[in-house]
This record gives sequence, structure tokens and C-alpha cells, in this order.
Amino acid sequence: GFNCGIVGLPNVGKSTLFNALTRNQVAAENYPFCTIDPHVGTVPVPDPRLAQLAEIVQPQKIVPTVMEFVDIAGLVAGASKGEGLGNRFLAHIRETDAVAHVVRCFEDVDIHHVCGRIDPAADIETLQTELILADLESVAKALDRYQRRAKANDKQAIAYRDWLGQIAEALNEGTPVRAQNLGEAVQPLLQELHLLTAKPVLYIANVTEDGFVDNPRLDAVRRIAAQENAAVTPVCAAIEAELAQLDDRERAGFLAEYGLEEPGLDRVIRAGYRLLGLQTFFTAGPKEVRAWTVKTGASAPQAAGRIHTDFERGFIRAEVIGFDDFIRCRGEQGAKETGRMRLEGKEYLVQEGDVIHFRFNV
Ligand code: GDP
Repeated sequence: GFNCGIVGLPNVGKSTLFNALTRNQVAAENYPFCTIDPHVGTVPVPDPRLAQLAEIVQPQKIVPTVMEFVDIAGLVAGASKGEGLGNRFLAHIRETDAVAHVVRCFEDVDIHHVCGRIDPAADIETLQTELILADLESVAKALDRYQRRAKANDKQAIAYRDWLGQIAEALNEGTPVRAQNLGEAVQPLLQELHLLTAKPVLYIANVTEDGFVDNPRLDAVRRIAAQENAAVTPVCAAIEAELAQLDDRERAGFLAEYGLEEPGLDRVIRAGYRLLGLQTFFTAGPKEVRAWTVKTGASAPQAAGRIHTDFERGFIRAEVIGFDDFIRCRGEQGAKETGRMRLEGKEYLVQEGDVIHFRFNV
């Protein structure tokens, strides 16, 4: 599955958030491809469109799509130089598709902060420095390799050598790779390097109950995020931990009391989903209404392959109804009759919200 690693300094609320996120785990039998590991939480992606589809189709069950959050504890200053714990921490980040960085913005004298004060900008820099140092090491190795090949007048090696020099220089100035605005041409090189600071980042600002507005610490996180092409979601982990303990009815009352429209975790999950560059399509039949995930830009056969590998191989065509058309026409029959159902071939790129029926050979 697609995953997002949760990182941060100690005592910022990572476990509190991870536990709240995973209290709502999905039934594993619906998701045979998901990882089973206590540090990995498979979380349903909240999507009100599922209920709208179900209201029309009246299926036996509704199955949301999922994404994975990985609890990556164990950052220590000096991780990039260190062995053991530090290295393992960096190796875990390398395996994730995106990074959710929890930053402490809440005050609580009873909860020790590793640096003795609440300073989100300093916390972000501490973690970022470790990632940058690790990337500098990867870049130096690659530079060495391409420098040798460049001597043999290999054109691509010369280009790579020059880009690597630029990347190293910017890293040395403290600019993460994702903020370096490198062009399309550099992407193959980046794919080869698996750099840590190239991954998309979401800052989860863990604020106090009343810390969502007029909060200079939250503003500081937003400023940093804007500079480095990262996203920000403020959340109060303490509230989320309480919410996660409640049943649906109690939860509605609790949210109303705080004047909240939805749990903060729903925003975290959706922000993570966006961060990963994912989009959703649906299948809707009497057995189940189900949301599926593909990378933005996926073709129809690739989408079919998410359901079953045989579907991708034997793909013939896709019968596609846009989500709004499906709702407006009250389902497949109505969409067909009004010409809103399209027959799409192998080249079709799946659009957000498409309701799809695949035709395939077995
Ligand atoms: P981790 O080390 O980053 O995983 O942090 P934990 O989730 O273990 O949290 C550290 C301590 O801070 C625990 O005692 C939590 O109950 C507390 N904590 C977490 N989030 C909040 C919050 O939003 N407000 C307050 N006051 N305490 C929190």
C-alpha cells in the first residue's frame, strides 16, 4: 500500500496520534495487500462520497480505501553519523513514500521537551539537519561515481555530475531537495538516489485545544512549510486521543461541544493522501460500493490492476461514469440512458471520482 511515515522528536505526541489513528483499523480480509506490522497502521480514508453512492446502489457493504501510517520512533541527534538506532531510523524513512513530521506546539509543564522549550522552528531544523546530512552523504557517493564516468566524456554522467554539485550546494545551505525546484530532467537521477529530503512532507502541528487560531507557533510552522513546499495540518492530539475512545454517537456530541465539523484525524488522513499524490475511483454494485486508490495519472488498465492483477492483463475496456453524473442520474442505468456512461480504452487516464466497471478477458 501507499504509506506515510510519522516522525518527530521525542514527546511531541507521535504515539498519541498513531494510536488514535489506528484505533480505527480496517478489517484485514478486505485488504490482502496491506502490511501486517505493529508499527504500521492501515487506516480507512474518510470519504463522504461512499455514502452518497451507497444511498443509490444499496449495496451489502461499503469498503473505503486505505492508506498506511508507519510509526517511526527513535530520532536521535547525530542519527546521520551514528550506527544502530540512528541509522535504522533513517532507513525506515527511506522506505516510506512521504513523511508526516509531528511538531510540538502545545505547552505542558508536566511533559518534558528534549530541548527544554517549545520551539517548533528549532525542532524542525533539528530533524531536517539529520536528513540533510544523510542526503549529503548519498550525494557525495553518487558524485564520486559520476565524476569518474564524466572523465570518459559520458554526456549523461557530465550532466549528472553537475546537477549533483548543485544539489549538494543547496543542501549545504540547508535547503531540502523538495524545495530546490529541480526540473523534470533531474527526476531520473533523483529516483536513483532515494533522497530523504526529496520526499513530500506534511507538518502535523500538535497544538493545544485553543491553539488553532492566533498561534505564533503554528504560524512559524506555516512559514517554514511555505518555504519548502510542504503542507501543514494543525491537530490537537489530546482531543484526538479522547475522540478515538468514543462510539459514533458520543463522538458527534463531543465534536459539537468543541464546535468541530470532523475529527482532526480525518484532516490528517486526507492531507496524507493528497501528499502521496493519490486519487480515488469507485466500483459500485449490489455486493459492494468500494473506493480504490491509484496514483494520479494512472491509466485504466493500471486502475483495473489495483482490483486484481488479472484485470490489468486481460483489460478490454472500462465503462466510466463521472461521480457527479452517477449521483445526478441516480446510478448506472440512468447514466446509460442519458448518454453519461463512456466506454474508455487502454489509454484512458482515470479521473478523480470516476465510477468504473471494468470489462476484461480471463
Ligand atoms: P512521542 O514521544 O512523540 O510519541 O510522544 P507521546 O505521544 O508519547 O506524548 C508524550 C506526552 O505528551 C504524553 O504524556 C502525551 O499524553 C502528551 N501529549 C501528547 N499530545 C498532547 C497534547 O496535544 N496536549 C497535551 N497537553 N499533552 C499531549
